[in-house]
Amino acid sequence: MTDSRQPLLPGATLGVMGGGQLGRMFVHAAQRMGYFTAVLDPDGLSPAGRVSHTHLHADYLDTRNLAELARVADAITTEFENVPAGALQQLADHRPVAPTGEAVAIAQDRLLEKAHFTRCGVPVAPYAAIADEAQLAAVPDALLPGILKTARLGYDGKGQVRVASREALAQAWAELGGVPCVLERMLPLAAECSVVVARGADGRMVHLPPQRNLHRAGILAVTEVFEGVLPPDSAQQAIDATRAIAEQLAYVGVLCVEFFVLQDGALVVNEMAPRPHNSGHWSLDACEVSQFELQVRTLAGLPLVQPRQHSPAVMLNLLGDLWFPGDAGEAADAAREPDWAAVLALPGMHLHLYGKAEARRGRKMGHLTVTGATPAAVRAAALQACAALGIAPF
Ligand code: ATP
Ligand code: MG
Repeated sequence: MTDSRQPLLPGATLGVMGGGQLGRMFVHAAQRMGYFTAVLDPDGLSPAGRVSHTHLHADYLDTRNLAELARVADAITTEFENVPAGALQQLADHRPVAPTGEAVAIAQDRLLEKAHFTRCGVPVAPYAAIADEAQLAAVPDALLPGILKTARLGYDGKGQVRVASREALAQAWAELGGVPCVLERMLPLAAECSVVVARGADGRMVHLPPQRNLHRAGILAVTEVFEGVLPPDSAQQAIDATRAIAEQLAYVGVLCVEFFVLQDGALVVNEMAPRPHNSGHWSLDACEVSQFELQVRTLAGLPLVQPRQHSPAVMLNLLGDLWFPGDAGEAADAAREPDWAAVLALPGMHLHLYGKAEARRGRKMGHLTVTGATPAAVRAAALQACAALGIAPF
């Protein structure tokens, strides 16, 4: 895409690779603004495919369907981090694609990603690459206890093993199939946070306020966004680092960067996602411009204006576990719908469900954003919602 490109105005068709919940919320944002949408996803019942004007059911590497997507869509984005970078490159021969296959390829590989962060002067956790027996043997003791992560294809804590000894490390690497991995030292975390930025083809960049994130079992559980939720120095450093990371990729689109705030106050970057992120969902309900509208605007070449948060926000992820209130041994047919009426009786509730046919433990089924007049009121209402749904308090 070039700076001189004319914006794609409403009435044009925006395409997205991937049909998950992020694609669904992108489709909603695009349609609200008068765009037509096209989704490519192999699943006939995908959350985004079900709401899009056009749904191409096909594998991400099916060249005939990629050609069809390039024919029907005027510009194409992705909602799915593991979309083959080669597919984005094929599309880019015909249409504007944002983010580019090159940027996505970096975000798909923890080693390339860490090298980019280091180039940008942003500290990463001490780590070592492990791709063969020699590298395994050469791991310094200082990286233990640590977390072994597959270099590619991890998400929601999958492809990760915590290891405390060299023996456990060797066993974990074998269990992960001996694929290329990184071992990171386990850091003493005081908090986790993330920042969403959007950068246009003209280089203009805007960001959402830093989000404080609570993970449980490697999966995002709660995001809180309001003044004072993070130490002000960490929040500013996270914004500056995220902007530098996007700038130095010449990134076009929405990018989210996740950070650790250490117990000594230092900020360390964890990873980035080349798309809107679960921790930015609150922006749909508590911000003038959501992360999905930012994705529409960057793809269409429309202006970017710094979004203002108009309410304190707490977001609760609604995992499939909520459909199984009993113990872990319960059969899938014992699933029952959570009591949405009890939640919606509380003030400031914004319920989002992704239309997934089947609830499974650990599966992201929806999220609930809580807004209100003050952080204290929002937290109190969110805790009531937790009690009504069976989510552990935060
Ligand atoms: P995502 O769903 O965000 O893509 P992921 O599977 O890629 O998750 P990470 O973000 O690498 O995984 O790690 C998941 C969580 O595990 C982190 O949010 C953090 O809570 C914890 N964690 C990861 N690395 C470290 C570390 N080096 N030190 C301490 N905790 C860590
Ligand atoms: Mg993560």
